[in-house]
Amino acid sequence: MAMEYRNLMEDIVLQNLDSVMAAGGGCTCDACKSDVVAYTLNHLTPHYVATRQGRLMVKLQSYELQSRADVVAAISEAAVMVAKAPRHGRE
Ligand SMILES: [Zn+2]
Repeated sequence: MAMEYRNLMEDIVLQNLDSVMAAGGGCTCDACKSDVVAYTLNHLTPHYVATRQGRLMVKLQSYELQSRADVVAAISEAAVMVAKAPRHGRE
């Protein structure tokens, strides 16, 4: 059996990314999204779980309820930082 582990924080950030970035009104191209995800995940405490796929959704849902407000705040902050110094168009 393979080892299975996952950072639930990453799933929760990705689930909320589009709506928070859209609400902020900034650029939502892939370069900016990637920067926002990286910045956000570096500023949130990771939440790793070792679990099989079937049990994952239950853990994810309960953890999202606890952490959603923090995640939304972190994404908003990251979007502001990225919008100040966007990487798009520089490559
Ligand atoms: Zn962009």
